[in-house]
Amino acid sequence: MKYALVTGGSRGIGRAICLKLAQMGCHVIINYNSGHDAAKETLQQIEAAGGTAELLPFNVANEEHMNEALDRWQSQNPDAYISILVNNAGIRRDTLAVFMSDEDWHDVMNTNLNGAFYLIRRLVKNMMTHRAGRIINIASVSGLKGQPGQLNYSAAKAAMIGATKSLAQEVGSRKITVNAVAPGFIATDMTEGLDEANLKKLIPAGRFGKPEEVAAVVGFLASDDAAYINGEVISVNGGLYS
Ligand code: NAP
Repeated sequence: MKYALVTGGSRGIGRAICLKLAQMGCHVIINYNSGHDAAKETLQQIEAAGGTAELLPFNVANEEHMNEALDRWQSQNPDAYISILVNNAGIRRDTLAVFMSDEDWHDVMNTNLNGAFYLIRRLVKNMMTHRAGRIINIASVSGLKGQPGQLNYSAAKAAMIGATKSLAQEVGSRKITVNAVAPGFIATDMTEGLDEANLKKLIPAGRFGKPEEVAAVVGFLASDDAAYINGEVISVNGGLYS
C-alpha cells in the first residue's frame, strides 16, 4: 500500500488527483485548510469507488501546524511512510503590481511556494531512506510565461519550477523523481468568474481543461512507469503555451 499526500485535495484539481491516486490503489491523505464539507465529499467519492483515504487538515503555509498534523498522523501510523507527495494547494490574489499589497504578495508566496517547501523538507528524508518517492508540484502556465496581474502568483509558480529542477538533481540517485505539472485554464473554483468566452479564444483546444485531465498526468508521474522522468515540467493547457 502506497501512501499519497495531496495538499488542497478537497476541491478542484486536488480532488481529481485524490480520486486518480486512490483508483491506482494508493491510500490517499486528503489535506485541506478549512473546507471540511468539500474534503468529506472527496473522501466519500473515493470510498464509494472502493478506495481508501483519510482527511488531514492543516494550513500548508503554517509549518508548525503542518508538523503537528504530520506528527499525529505518524504516531497513529508508525510503520507507514508517505511515498507520494502532490503539492497542489494554491490561492491567487490577482492585482496589478502597483496596487499589490504586502499581504497579497506574502499570502500567495506562503501558500503556493513556502508550503510546498515545508512539506518537501519534512517528507523527502523518509523517501530517501526508503529509496523510493514521487514529488509532483502543481505549477502553472503563469510560472512559465508570466501573466499580467499575477506578479505574486507567477513568481511563486516559477520558483516552484526552479525548486522542482533543483530537487530532482539532489534526490534522483535515490529513486525519487520530482516533476511539475503546469495547467493552463482549468474549470474549478479558482477560474470561476473569469471571462471564459473570451479566454477560450486564446486556447487552441477551444475550451477550458477539466481537473481530471490534470489528474491523469499526475497519476502517470506518480506511477512506476514514470521512473525515468525527472525534473520535467509537463504543460496541460490545450496548446495555450509551450
Ligand atoms: P481551487 O479549486 O481553488 O482549490 C484550492 C485547494 O487548495 C482547495 O482544496 C483549498 O482548500 C486548498 N488550499 C488553499 N489554501 C490552502 C492552505 N493554506 N492550506 C491547505 N490547503 C489550501 O484551486 P484549483 O483550481 O483546483 O487549483 C489547484 C492548484 O492548481 C493550485 O496550485 C493552482 O494554483 C493550480 N492551477 C490551477 C489552474 C486553474 O486554472 N484552475 C491553473 C494553473 C494552476 P480549502 O478550501 O480548505 O482552503
